[in-house]
Amino acid sequence: MPLAPDSPLSICFPNDPKALKALADAGFSSAADIASHFPFRHEDRRHFAPWPTSESDSPLSIRGRVTDSRQLRSGFRKPFVEVTLEPIDSLGLLPPVILRWFNLPWLHKSFAADMEVIAFGKIKAATHGRLVIDHPEYEILSDDSTDAAIHMDRITPVYRAPNGIPQKTLRRAAFLVLSSADPDAWPDILPPPSPNSDFSGLSRLTALRDLHFPPSEESSERARRYLALEEFFVLQLHVLRRRLAILALQGAPHCGPGLLLNRWLDSLPFPLTSAQLRCIDGIRSDLASPSPMHRLLQGDVGSGKTFVAIAAILLAVESGAQAVLMAPTRILASQHALTFHRWLHPLGLRIALLTGARSDDAQALSSLSADNPPHIIIGTHAVLHGNRLANPGLIVIDEQHKFGVAQRNALAAQSSAPDVLVMTATPIPRSLTMTLYGDLDLSTLDEMPAGRQPITTAVRINPDPVQIAAFLRSQFAAGRQAYLVFPLIDESSSLAVRAATREVETWRTRLPDHQLGLLHGRTPADEKDDLMERFRANSIHALCATSVVEVGVDIPNASVILIFDADRFGLAQLHQLRGRVGRGPHKSFCILITNGDNPDTTARLQLLEKTSDGFAVAEADLRIRGPGDLMGTAQSGLPDLRLGDLIRDTPLVRTARRLASSILEADPSLSGPHRHLLPLLSPPPPLPSSPA
Ligand code: ADP
Ligand code: MG
Repeated sequence: MPLAPDSPLSICFPNDPKALKALADAGFSSAADIASHFPFRHEDRRHFAPWPTSESDSPLSIRGRVTDSRQLRSGFRKPFVEVTLEPIDSLGLLPPVILRWFNLPWLHKSFAADMEVIAFGKIKAATHGRLVIDHPEYEILSDDSTDAAIHMDRITPVYRAPNGIPQKTLRRAAFLVLSSADPDAWPDILPPPSPNSDFSGLSRLTALRDLHFPPSEESSERARRYLALEEFFVLQLHVLRRRLAILALQGAPHCGPGLLLNRWLDSLPFPLTSAQLRCIDGIRSDLASPSPMHRLLQGDVGSGKTFVAIAAILLAVESGAQAVLMAPTRILASQHALTFHRWLHPLGLRIALLTGARSDDAQALSSLSADNPPHIIIGTHAVLHGNRLANPGLIVIDEQHKFGVAQRNALAAQSSAPDVLVMTATPIPRSLTMTLYGDLDLSTLDEMPAGRQPITTAVRINPDPVQIAAFLRSQFAAGRQAYLVFPLIDESSSLAVRAATREVETWRTRLPDHQLGLLHGRTPADEKDDLMERFRANSIHALCATSVVEVGVDIPNASVILIFDADRFGLAQLHQLRGRVGRGPHKSFCILITNGDNPDTTARLQLLEKTSDGFAVAEADLRIRGPGDLMGTAQSGLPDLRLGDLIRDTPLVRTARRLASSILEADPSLSGPHRHLLPLLSPPPPLPSSPA
């Protein structure tokens, strides 16, 4: 009987209540559940590798006959199970392979002499020259002839088996579902592939069939790519619809004629980079248009995003709008306030700093209620509390990846439909940008201000503190300053991380003639201000800190950053930390210190020696940690990727975006010829939205 995706599994297994129950217990109830439980690997059972005679470097699969199965106990250890496997038609010349399981004593009952078994795992040489596979994946073959065609002599799918459900039950279910599926009931999601495309001839159903039971190795990869394209396509429909919803909002233009901007530009001691000017142009036309700006400004650490923000803010303020700049930490907000005061006070602009710290807020709040409210409010998430914003025309969010989705949405959802500019220094790969920020226009600062020197990065395993101290002294003597970064503030013996609090004392004895300050998350607000002020004035030579200095801190005179226990940080975070130096004309150094215990992590750190390109770092980080960790995809409200790989499949992401936008162009509300796509997009995208 032809099956639809929602057909119950009882149709597949009318006479097999045991299989049905096992599937139901593992959470499978419909044909679609089975078809979308993808194999995690395939095994070519058309030809098995020759019977092993020694250890193997990688897992391999062997087919053999059981000659013995026993439960054993050695000394006081828990019992274990050994099953002896010999080649099917062995002449007794090849050594047996022992399958071995610990702590699963009941398992030996599953095996009996003469059973045929396929086992998959790494072959190890054990005592007495025996060949052993510990905890293999295994499958007992029955001689049921109809079944054999499903499991044997083909490229066979292997599934993750929830609830310990037998492989063969899952595989048989997949085979029955896919061979009985009614093509009309499994319509394509993607538009039909053009005849000369890589996917010509594929449909959703044939791709599913090829993915589970591929006729050749190439066909399974082609099917994976087709279905990955489908995933990216649905994602793109999501983000592009968010984008359309934003474009449809009625806002107001917030762009002055630019006289204020020009006066500021004239006051700068250096020209803006052409990348900065290009980004400002893009923002300017967004501000001038009545539909709200929704733009991401992406630029590596130190590329000068703050000045682009200032330009945007000046254009908005000149049009009579209020502008808000939100930063993730108080240190950063205060630093922005300083920068803004320095450049904009001469232009007669009023600036308020609102951070939730009493000392800042008393002043800010009185100015907010005065007759002449500030032109610009700078702050932390504290700006969100208690309706303090008077319908801002422009909102800039700095280091936006540090904010929760809710906080960003709260800002963007002001009734004034403000223009929104979000800035990030996390240079994520293009494919991820198109996915996570696909609803935003993108400006990229791809050029560093002139006169910067490359930062020298060095990984050092347990370096001699005396040498480090000497190096620091030479930098201090040249007038420079340093950061010393420690992973945590309190000593935690279990983690054996250095405690900044204790370490700073040690470093004070090593550098008795210099001033060292200690900054961490629990330093009281006033003390933080004082420390930063003294560091900025070069009356503190080294700032010892936890990763609170990670985002945004800008002290161009600092030329050294020492990062202790560097392996405790992610690569992207280390790149951010490194960006604290090399912000001025001075030759700068980033020293990553590790105990070298783990060669893998040391190798990972060494990647930073080789590249200063934030994109390369981000891509490596994405590879190591996955996109969820890097960007908080979990919070993005977007469906998960199961087959698509944001690095490997970048061209597919582009294709998906093209396909999705041409469909939405023809049928923006998906109520016409493409209405079958609408159910794929539930729940509907939140509106108005900012990205995650
Ligand atoms: P980020 O993009 O990391 O936020 P900032 O905006 O803090 O970078 O800028 C980093 C440093 O570069 C600051 O000290 C800033 O004054 C300086 N800077 C910005 N633009 C230019 C420029 N066009 N020429 C020279 N220096 C610049
Ligand atoms: Mg910045």
